[in-house]
Amino acid sequence: MNFSIVGEYHSHIRNVAELSDDDKKYIKQEVGEFTRSGIKVTNWIEMILNVEPRTYSRKPTKTFECSYFRKKIRCTVRGVRDAFSGYSVTIGTYWFNPRTFEHNEASVYVP
Ligand SMILES: [Zn+2]
Repeated sequence: MNFSIVGEYHSHIRNVAELSDDDKKYIKQEVGEFTRSGIKVTNWIEMILNVEPRTYSRKPTKTFECSYFRKKIRCTVRGVRDAFSGYSVTIGTYWFNPRTFEHNEASVYVP
């Protein structure tokens, strides 16, 4: 489709928005498969979402708020899909050099 592959995202449940050793192995495999298929990968961005469901005993006001950490962001959604539940989503993003697999955490911003 002539799109450049820039990376992917995946989620962790009740864990952390950090790269695991398995994530790093998987990314290396994935980039290797693209390269073997003739698809040039010049950058790789891995976005990890930690999704934690929340339950409220009192009906919360419908809200969507985000807090910034040093590089990550956590957004909380309350009472939108269900009056007594919500989600806390923490997003971590990592830049990979697809040749060396050196990586650094990137800062996440939302508009
Ligand atoms: Zn992971």
